Parts: sequence; structure tokens; C-alpha cells
Amino acid sequence: MKEFAIIGGGIGGCATAALLNVQGHNVVLLEKEPYLGGCASTFSHRTHRYNTGATTISGCHEDGVVKALFDKVGVRPRLIPTDPGIVIIQGRKQIARYSEIEHFLSELQQAHPHPGHSEFWHLVQSICEAFYTMQMPYYSNASVLKKVISLFSFSPLLKKFWPYLHGNARAFIEEFYKDVTPEYRDFLDAQIMIVAQDSSEKVNFFTAALALGYTFKQTHYPLGGMGNVCDTLTSKLKDRRSSCEVNKVERRKDRYLLHTAKEIIEAENIIMGTSHYESKQWFEDKQITSYYKRYEKRNNHQSAFVLYLRLRSHKSFHHHYQLIAKEKLPYTLSKALFVSFSDPADTQMSADGHYSITASIHTDTRFWSALEPFAYKAQKKSLQELLKTWICDTLCIDFDDIVDAFSATPHTFGRYLNRTQLGGNALNTDNLLPFLPSNDTPIAGFYQVGDTAYAAQGWPGVVMGAMNLSRLLNDA
Ligand SMILES: Cc1cc2nc3c(=O)[nH]c(=O)nc-3n(C[C@H](O)[C@H](O)[C@H](O)COP(=O)(O)OP(=O)(O)OC[C@H]3O[C@@H](n4cnc5c(N)ncnc54)[C@H](O)[C@@H]3O)c2cc1C
Repeated sequence: MKEFAIIGGGIGGCATAALLNVQGHNVVLLEKEPYLGGCASTFSHRTHRYNTGATTISGCHEDGVVKALFDKVGVRPRLIPTDPGIVIIQGRKQIARYSEIEHFLSELQQAHPHPGHSEFWHLVQSICEAFYTMQMPYYSNASVLKKVISLFSFSPLLKKFWPYLHGNARAFIEEFYKDVTPEYRDFLDAQIMIVAQDSSEKVNFFTAALALGYTFKQTHYPLGGMGNVCDTLTSKLKDRRSSCEVNKVERRKDRYLLHTAKEIIEAENIIMGTSHYESKQWFEDKQITSYYKRYEKRNNHQSAFVLYLRLRSHKSFHHHYQLIAKEKLPYTLSKALFVSFSDPADTQMSADGHYSITASIHTDTRFWSALEPFAYKAQKKSLQELLKTWICDTLCIDFDDIVDAFSATPHTFGRYLNRTQLGGNALNTDNLLPFLPSNDTPIAGFYQVGDTAYAAQGWPGVVMGAMNLSRLLNDA
């Protein structure tokens, strides 16, 4: 019998499996797809490699949580620094998010002149610095008492950042600048959205500052594709199974029985690396199904439409762009499109000298589930063409140089990764900590990691959750 069975090889499942493995636990990692990584995986399509969703890795700087994970596990994924972290294009304006603040400020001053920028962005940077050097709090959901005690670990954070924790970021920004143009607001909102998964109106300024400031720390590009990071992270595992979907989980008195197509795996504990909103289907146990039901109202149905392109071009591009439009496109939730290019020197991703491009925009799962098959196909094609044209026009790419193009809707993500809601829990004021799930639960031997649990999405958020769980298990 296994001590821990981890279901789902996304960032959360991989990070947790790797941590428990180095601590000497008997672990099996089970992934449905033939490759690891989930939203942070890399797949092949007509012999070319594409990143599924995530393309940027942050938190790998000296005091970063992802670097701390790699150090604990003793692995070194192949990463190269990217600076600027993003280049933001808004009409004719182009602003590179350089990690060096004065360099970035000179770009910003040209695009959106304002005397308040230096003070504002130094405040953003100082909040980020203060956060990264703090002892990380922990969060438990095993019982009311444990939850209350764990919430005390947040007191230093509450004390330090109190002025930025109440009220919303939009009000704070407007009060700070006095005169914010709609264009500059869009510039800020687009960056807040990709990290916090909500707009400045719905997040506090502390969260907004962490989202706006992440590019002041070094961000990285994963050589060979994002999926390689999860492969390297779990390379020391003795039992790592891909193409191994768990179809049903039975709960017994002292163990769980995991049904796969080939066998039944027994484990003392299970760690779900799948989404809270789409995991109930594998259980009949009443306590577990009602646990999942409790969190259903947190599902914001937010998701992504992703366009994949293969481009034949000798031009040079930055690794990441954020294109900001004046209006939202139909069937999307945001004015901003995130576009990532493979590095030309990356022989795996840029095979045949062709760029691999992953471009994503926020959408709502319900837009797509409401469509009949014919309308769905037509809408998918239409949005794909709109985004392709937007990218080609903005980055001066010849349409004929696109040698392959295809896309994924929330429905596609559901088919491959068993999840349609993407991006996890927004870091907004509706999702305050005592109401959010943690990585432990009141159910014996039943745990949860990933971006729908503490501490939300992206490499840093999901890794913080995995570290939190490892700490809770060691303290138990
Ligand atoms: C379009 C897009 C772009 C993004 N860009 C970035 C970025 O640039 N940088 C960043 O840091 N973050 C980014 N994110 C966020 C980040 O990718 C996610 O927050 C993170 O990858 C989620 O990890 P997770 O552990 O929650 O698992 P998931 O990625 O959801 O993985 C869950 C895994 O479980 C598997 N699974 C499901 N059901 C079963 C089953 N029954 N049996 C076995 N396995 C199962 C799935 O196949 C999947 O591999 C992006 C997300 C999206 C959608």
C-alpha cells in the first residue's frame, strides 16, 4: 500500500510529490495525460511543441518560493532569465517591463507621462520586497481550531501591510494619482488580471502591488517547454505514472482505493491535484462530496481561450507580450491578450527554426457550454482568426508566415485536463482566506493542492500551497 497517492500531475501534484519524496515518504503520482504539467505542460501537435497555457515562470529569484522548492528537492530545471518580463503594447505605445525600475520608469514616462510614477512604482516595488523577505504564513482547514490558530500566522503580514489590505486597488490608485486616464487604468488592470485573476476594482492594493511588481524580480523562460520543469521536478520519484487516469476513488476505514483502467491502487492518504470544482465526480463518499459542494459557489467560471501558432520568421521577438485593445472582443472577458514566443535558440520548442507561440485571453466557460456544436465550431474559428489577425497586425507578422494555427476553448481543457475553470481562485475580496479551502481538510487522509486551494494560481501560488501542505503534514 502507498502512503500517499497524488492524483493529477499539474504544478501542485508534481511539487507535492517531489517534496514528500525527498522527505522519505512512499509516494505515487498519477497523471491522466501522457505528459506532466497540466496547465503548465508542453504537448506535441503535428511534430511541433507548444506550451499548453503557462509560459512564464516567476518565483525563481534568490528569495523566491519556487527557487526554495527546487533547492529542497535538489533539482535545477533548465531556465533562462527573461528581461523585460513582458512587453506591453497598447495602440502605438510600447512599454517594456524591465526588472530594473528606473529603466522601466523611463519607458512608462514616455508612454503615459505622469509626475506620480516614480513614487507609485517604488511603493509597488517596496511592497513586493517586504513580502518576499517575510517568513511565510501557513493555513490549515483541518478543524475550526486549527484554522483559527493558523490564521494567527498571518498577523505579521496583516500588521505590515494593513494600509493596503482594505478597500480596493482602483480606489487606492485613483486617490494616489488623482487623475488616471482610462488608458493607464487598462494598462494597470491588464497586468493585475494575469496574476490576481480579477480587476483592480475587486482586489486590494496589496494584491495588486504583488501582481504589478512581479517583473521587478527576475522571470524565467523554461528551455524545452514548461512541461520540462515538471519532468525535472519529479525526476527523483520512484513511482510516477502518466497516461494513468483515476476513474473512481472509494473511501474505506483506513485507506482509499483508486480505480484506474489497469488496476486498483491502495493508499493511506490521497492528495487531489485536480480542481475543486471538477473533482466531485470521482467520489461517492458523502463527506467528500459535501466538502466539494461547499466550495462550488466559489467557481467564477473564468477560463481561457488559447491560440497556438507556428511561425516561420527570421524576425526577433521578445519572449512575452501583452497586447491591450480598446474594447473587449466577443466571447472574451478581458481587453488583453498574452502572447509568448519560443526562444529561437531553444531547439526543442523552435524546431525547424519555427517559433512556437501560445497566446491566451480570458473567457467564461458558460459562453462556450451554451453553444450547439455547429455554433461552437464557428465561434471558435471566428475568435481564432480575430486573435491571429490582432497578433499579426500588432507585431508586423506576415499572415502567410503562420504555418499552423489551432486553438483551445474551456471545453478543450475539459477534455484533456478534466477542468474547464482555469486560473483557480481569484485573489479578490470575495475570496478571503477563512472562506477558501486549504491544502488539508477535515477528512482523514484527504488533501488538496493546486490553484483552487490555498494559495491560488501560477507557479508561486501553487508552490506555496504545496509547501504549506508539506509543513502541515510534518507538524501533524
Ligand atoms: C492559459 C493559461 C496561461 C497561464 N500562464 C501562466 C504563466 O505564464 N505563468 C504561471 O505561473 N502560471 C500561468 N497560468 C496558471 C498556471 O498554469 C496554473 O495556475 C497551474 O498550472 C495550475 O496547476 P494545478 O496544480 O492546479 O493543476 P492543473 O494544471 O489543473 O493540473 C491538474 C492535472 O490533473 C490531471 N488530472 C485531471 N483529472 C485526473 C484524473 N482523474 N486522474 C489523473 N490525473 C488527472 C490533469 O490532466 C492535469 O495534468 C496560466 C494558466 C492558463 C490556463
